[in-house]
Amino acid sequence: MYKILFLILLLTNFFYHLFLHLLSNKQVGKPLPASVQGIYNDEEYDKWRRYNNKKDKLGIVSSVIGLAINIVLFCTNIISVIYNALPGDVMVKSMLFFLVIGLVETIISLPIDYIFNFKIEAEFGFNKVTPKTFIADAIKNYIIGNILNIAIFGLVLLAYNLLGNYFGIIAFLGLALFMILISAFSTVFSKIFNKFTPLPEGELRSNLSKMFADAGYKLKDIYVMDASKRTTKANAYCGGIGKLKQIVLYDNLVNNYTDGEITAVFAHELAHFKNKDTTKMTFFNMLNFLPMMVMMTVMMIVPEIAQSFGFEGANIFFAFYVSFGSILSIVTSLIMIPFNCMSRRFERRADSLAYELGYGDDLISGLRKLHKDSLSDMNPHPTVVKLTYSHPPLHERIELIEAKKNNK
Ligand SMILES: [Zn+2]
Repeated sequence: MYKILFLILLLTNFFYHLFLHLLSNKQVGKPLPASVQGIYNDEEYDKWRRYNNKKDKLGIVSSVIGLAINIVLFCTNIISVIYNALPGDVMVKSMLFFLVIGLVETIISLPIDYIFNFKIEAEFGFNKVTPKTFIADAIKNYIIGNILNIAIFGLVLLAYNLLGNYFGIIAFLGLALFMILISAFSTVFSKIFNKFTPLPEGELRSNLSKMFADAGYKLKDIYVMDASKRTTKANAYCGGIGKLKQIVLYDNLVNNYTDGEITAVFAHELAHFKNKDTTKMTFFNMLNFLPMMVMMTVMMIVPEIAQSFGFEGANIFFAFYVSFGSILSIVTSLIMIPFNCMSRRFERRADSLAYELGYGDDLISGLRKLHKDSLSDMNPHPTVVKLTYSHPPLHERIELIEAKKNNK
């Protein structure tokens, strides 16, 4: 009974993504909105279409594989068989299991990641990952992923032993705190993967510092991050905890954009920072954990659910944590719809602020370059935008700035 319900959720998730894919396919061959014509020439546009098509196909292949694996796991109870066969108490068993399952996951996803980086991204000139960085990243991700998994699970188990029935609510708050820490220390985390060098003195540096000071912030330093090691995509952000904030610019941005464009992109990011958009989004993202907590509580009250998958007693948490997280992804996708809508509003507000600071034209040319460089979709299906886009599509952003200019 529960198995059937869970399989329905899994299948719903699969078909939801297939539906999005089909909608995107319908856009192929439709004329571009006027404001984004001429960004790609015909040859580039054709390249873009082929790129997206390949990426999409790979995405479908990987979700079919994921679906197949999940169906097999659910139908055979293989997870509980392996888990019950491992030695030790709940914590030791779980740690061992995470190490094993993490390794299996890494091995299964390696071919897909490999094809993505070295076939698709490389064919279109995006890939900057060398086989050495690729393997080093896979190992780092495996280690960090396992440490996080084991740490989170340990906390969950500890919380359950200490708190009993109040566990669900308190664990939710604990996870919320954890999310805040992760985002607060994101600059620290990215230092594990990247090198940061201070931006040299000059006009750009003094413009950015002045804009930052005018907005009322104290600047720790402006760093250039060696993002080009992995990608040709360009970005900028502000971060840091406490009074002193730091600005981080991707080296791709610094090397390939005019000072005006860099400042415009930064003005947009500064608006996010000022409006605390990132903090708000982190807060709302935490609501993503709510279905998980509800489901955990339901599984505690109804032990038959976990039993039908071969788990007993305290192992129910583990069962949930490993096996059932994935069935909630359809719920999460649906929850994301209103958040994406809000995020698009934040983006429009940040664009407006960059315009008001006098960087309207620079922002338009910067955005055109950014979208061109990342070969992003110039004409996504409006329904796909509504359901999944965290940023408005480029033509909407340009039209917004142009409209403000014309109203003046
Ligand atoms: Zn933004």
